Amino acid sequence: KAPLAPYPIVIVGHVDHGKSTLIGRLLHDTDSLPEGRLAELKKVSEQRGLHMEWSFLLDALQIERDQGITLDTTRIWFRTPKRPYVIIDAPGHREFLRNMVTGAAAADAAVLVTDAERGISEQTRRHAYLLSLLGVRKVIVAVNKMDLVDHAEDAWKGVAGDVSDYLQKLGIEPLYVIPLSARHGDNIAARSEKMAWYRGPTLLEALDLLVPAAPRTEAALRLPIQDVYRKGDTRLAVGRIETGRLKVGDKVEIAPTGQPATVASIDAGKGSVPEARAGQSVAVSFIEDAALNRGQIIAPAGHMPHIATTIRVRAFWLDPESLTAGSRITLRLTTSEHPVVVEKFERLVDVEHLTDGEGSELGQGGIAEIVLRSSAPIAFDHASDLPITGRAGLARGGRIVGGCILLGAASNVTVAG
Ligand code: GDP
Repeated sequence: KAPLAPYPIVIVGHVDHGKSTLIGRLLHDTDSLPEGRLAELKKVSEQRGLHMEWSFLLDALQIERDQGITLDTTRIWFRTPKRPYVIIDAPGHREFLRNMVTGAAAADAAVLVTDAERGISEQTRRHAYLLSLLGVRKVIVAVNKMDLVDHAEDAWKGVAGDVSDYLQKLGIEPLYVIPLSARHGDNIAARSEKMAWYRGPTLLEALDLLVPAAPRTEAALRLPIQDVYRKGDTRLAVGRIETGRLKVGDKVEIAPTGQPATVASIDAGKGSVPEARAGQSVAVSFIEDAALNRGQIIAPAGHMPHIATTIRVRAFWLDPESLTAGSRITLRLTTSEHPVVVEKFERLVDVEHLTDGEGSELGQGGIAEIVLRSSAPIAFDHASDLPITGRAGLARGGRIVGGCILLGAASNVTVAG
């Protein structure tokens, strides 16, 4: 039997509300720490005259990463008896964003950490908003530091109510709202006796109850081309099928040019196959001598993505240097890259009240609807139809510093077909 694929989750929340501590705790309580690491940590803690600080664990891993040593803190693994998990981001990294917007490793679920004493904050709301924007709809709320509020049910209820209300406004129904203490290990692996009033699952039980999203094999085919190479006289387009299925003999169109092609062969890694589906990486050849390039999207004949040069997007921005009308950035949509200019600001989103505002500048952490213009046509889907080909990273100076979901063509529409 094939090993279970690790279930990808992300842990988000306001800085200092306890994400690193929670991750350290998860690693420890599931026995996923590298050999000897716990003893080392205890020593460091004692030398600093502190009791065991789980967040040191992540710091230690981070230092090793900065020094170019083995460990990758952007992929932290742990396992329960039920299945393996991968946390696809360590707190504070842009990796989550990059992974999500490029589809490299999409989190299927999120743990939103909120401090029981300090409650919901602006940053809690912002992270919740980003989850909704990026389509992460399975959210577990961890009400952390319950030890600071005497493990009181009322304190939990207050924070739980605030966070749930906000998530519901975004159309997300939180799956579990768990009172816990990352530092003391309450309600993470073991049920807490100090919170006997709580009847729901522990964090690990809640994670194990999540049902992974199935690959979207029934949606329209979208196969973004990652690479093109030659094998003898045959040209092969290589990429991962993001949605739908592909069969030998299928008539397809290659976006954005719209050139028609017929599938001659599909190789799914272990030789030729008659059919492949969402989630598989494939090498495809065509009967016609089609002009193939990285960044094109293979789609079913008659079901091409939208093609436009001017696109309305809902964007979030993380760079200290603001985004303004006229800014030149790069849109990275699956495997394609397009230089674009910010043509105009349609509205700014007030994350606290979820209302619209006016403005023409997007500062760090801001969210706005803007119009982007490209000189060449861009193939894309509406995020509400096909999320993977409907979102993109926003890069400046070669680094991803924002992301967006694509809402539609703003004008200059080239009708396909
Ligand atoms: P992050 O910035 O969200 O990763 O937060 P950290 O994990 O670094 O935690 C911030 C501070 O809160 C640290 O001093 C932790 O020791 C402390 N902390 C984390 N979890 C708990 C908890 O359950 N109870 C208490 N009392 N402190 C905690």
